[in-house]
Amino acid sequence: MTGVRQYETDIAIIGAGGAGIAAGVEALDAGASAIAFEKSSEVGGAAIISGGGCLIVGSPLQKQNGIHDTPDLAFKDWIAWGGPSADEVWARYYIEHSLHDLYHWAEGLGVKWVDLKVQEGNSVLRWTRAERNGLGLMTHLIEGFRSKGDEIVPETEITELSIEDGRVTGGEGRDVKTGDPVAVRSKAVVMTTGGFNSNLDMVLEFKPDLGNHKVLEGSGRGATGTGHRLIRQAGGYLTHMDHIWFYVYATPDYRDPAQRRGLVFRLVPGNIWVNQQGRRFHNEARSGGNSATPALMAQNPRHAWAIVDTPMTATMEIADPYYRDGDKVVRAKVVELLDNSPFICKADTLAELARKMDADAPTFLATVER
Ligand SMILES: Cc1cc2nc3c(=O)[nH]c(=O)nc-3n(C[C@H](O)[C@H](O)[C@H](O)COP(=O)(O)OP(=O)(O)OC[C@H]3O[C@@H](n4cnc5c(N)ncnc54)[C@H](O)[C@@H]3O)c2cc1C
Repeated sequence: MTGVRQYETDIAIIGAGGAGIAAGVEALDAGASAIAFEKSSEVGGAAIISGGGCLIVGSPLQKQNGIHDTPDLAFKDWIAWGGPSADEVWARYYIEHSLHDLYHWAEGLGVKWVDLKVQEGNSVLRWTRAERNGLGLMTHLIEGFRSKGDEIVPETEITELSIEDGRVTGGEGRDVKTGDPVAVRSKAVVMTTGGFNSNLDMVLEFKPDLGNHKVLEGSGRGATGTGHRLIRQAGGYLTHMDHIWFYVYATPDYRDPAQRRGLVFRLVPGNIWVNQQGRRFHNEARSGGNSATPALMAQNPRHAWAIVDTPMTATMEIADPYYRDGDKVVRAKVVELLDNSPFICKADTLAELARKMDADAPTFLATVER
């Protein structure tokens, strides 16, 4: 114990992921001082391992690709997709500001928007990907935050909010490594602690029907819902807790001693998914939680193989900090996963691969051929 580490700032940001870093950049631009507290040693949250695709309406990229998009069309899609629980005021605000407050704003910080991808619920291409996905997007945002002169304090978890006269005036926490106490005093606190998909108990609390399935934790390691508890304690309320989005294109993390984590892989163009019987069952371009997940859950057993050849793995990324060094993907570690995971089979011929997968060889060979 070395005594209490103390901080004083205009704005305390709890959680240095996508929302926290963006809030910090905005605070600094508006002339306030800001400090972001991050419980992980890695900054960037789930956002840095994400696909980095953002819904942007009326972008130059859409125009270059001959896509005519309008806020009205995007709003119609959003409401049709979100159903009765969609927040119409927020949807309209977000859509009308996405071009200037997100696309151009991020470009101003060095982000390069590179392409558009099909995304469920959108009638035109508007899911806009940043160069190097979430890693590229967040690297520029974090650099922007730091270059404006303010601080990100890693390995520091905020565990309590301080409340005086009904107002949040800072927080208390601890150094994750040493356990030493941390005290923060601020004019305002921005709570950006992310989601809770890496807390299976909490996932099952809000989605008990998933209790019969094998669900892996695949979000940012810090997405454990700590902020939800703090917000409740401070008198805030939470909504839409059962709206949880699951991806299926992941493989169990064989390095996780608890065997709870999943690793999302991406940038493997042309990979096809086959079920245990060796049959393709879904359009892999529609990889989101609303169509790919139910399609996989309808298989028996409920898993699939993603079939790739060696050249297709050249650009493969694994959504986990172990597989990169700073903002660079460590290719050798991707190869290490492909070589060593007991959940991945390798073979020199498709027939041998079918045998290793224990799939029906004629069906599998015909699927790949087709
Ligand atoms: C594999 C994957 C792919 C995705 N792809 C996309 C995509 O393409 N497009 C898209 O829009 N969304 C995508 N998402 C979702 C997106 O990443 C999240 O919605 C987004 O990152 C949420 O931002 P956030 O700032 O709220 O949380 P995060 O980015 O997770 O940041 C929260 C941070 O708070 C920290 N924290 C938590 N509690 C505390 C505490 N008590 N004290 C201090 N720090 C704390 C966490 O460690 C974390 O760093 C994807 C998610 C995953 C996992």
